[in-house]
Amino acid sequence: MRRQVKFAGDDNMSRSTTKSGRFVLAIHGGAGTIRRAQLTPARERRYHEALRDALKAGYAILAAGGASLDAVTASVVSLEDCPLFNAGRGAVFNARGRHELDAAIMDGASRNAGAVAGVRRAKNPIRVARAVMECSPHVLLGGAGADAFARKQKLELVAPDHFSTPQRLLALQRAKQRERGAVREPLSATDRHGTVGAVARDVHGNLAAATSTGGFTNKLAGRIGDTPVVGAGTYADNVTCAVSATGDGDFFLRAVFAYDLSARMRYAGEPLARAARNALA
Ligand code: ASP
Repeated sequence: MRRQVKFAGDDNMSRSTTKSGRFVLAIHGGAGTIRRAQLTPARERRYHEALRDALKAGYAILAAGGASLDAVTASVVSLEDCPLFNAGRGAVFNARGRHELDAAIMDGASRNAGAVAGVRRAKNPIRVARAVMECSPHVLLGGAGADAFARKQKLELVAPDHFSTPQRLLALQRAKQRERGAVREPLSATDRHGTVGAVARDVHGNLAAATSTGGFTNKLAGRIGDTPVVGAGTYADNVTCAVSATGDGDFFLRAVFAYDLSARMRYAGEPLARAARNALA
């Protein structure tokens, strides 16, 4: 079991100060360690470039005095559009050979949130989550209703095979072979994971968090993970922290992980790193 959480102080982070104040942006591309043997220098470069592009997209907004919500949206859209990660294009296949995508976003200033689960047609699930937050009276929309809402909001829809990549198909085939007992090795971290997320603090001191995922390879159809459940995989509160989790979501769900981390800071006065360690433990 692997569980990870990104918070200020971690890798993939950009910290800067403008005339008006300090801002922070941290992104992640999923739990698990990619084995060296699976990584050619060219592939490693592509990962680094994709992460750098995602950081740059959010950074430009924060550096211009923009909102943390816009920054985390931009970073996550950039990662959703990159086929290397398990979110948007490049998402894993479920047990029926389909993609069902989950995403959530939260505004730490208002503690308003929006999320989608089991989306199949919206190109950028994080944009739909944001529209749920800003243009609907609800917090979480699921399945065909979420895709219909995306259409109504004039967000881009794509054919379901837009999300498919040969690597993810191979991973599903390996998972099926393992189920039949034809192979023994467990799926590698790269085959299973690759969720993306971003947390930010803007120059106005507002926090935001965003997470987007395809779940994990060979998940049951209809399975919903921690990512779109506010307080499990995604949470933001200006008083405490912004959290975007990645790892086995069924554990994060039961632990109400992201909220537990924030509550430890808010009610027990635990500093961020200790709260994160304790919530994970
Ligand atoms: N947390 C995600 C889920 O369970 C998967 C991941 O982060 O790798 O859907």
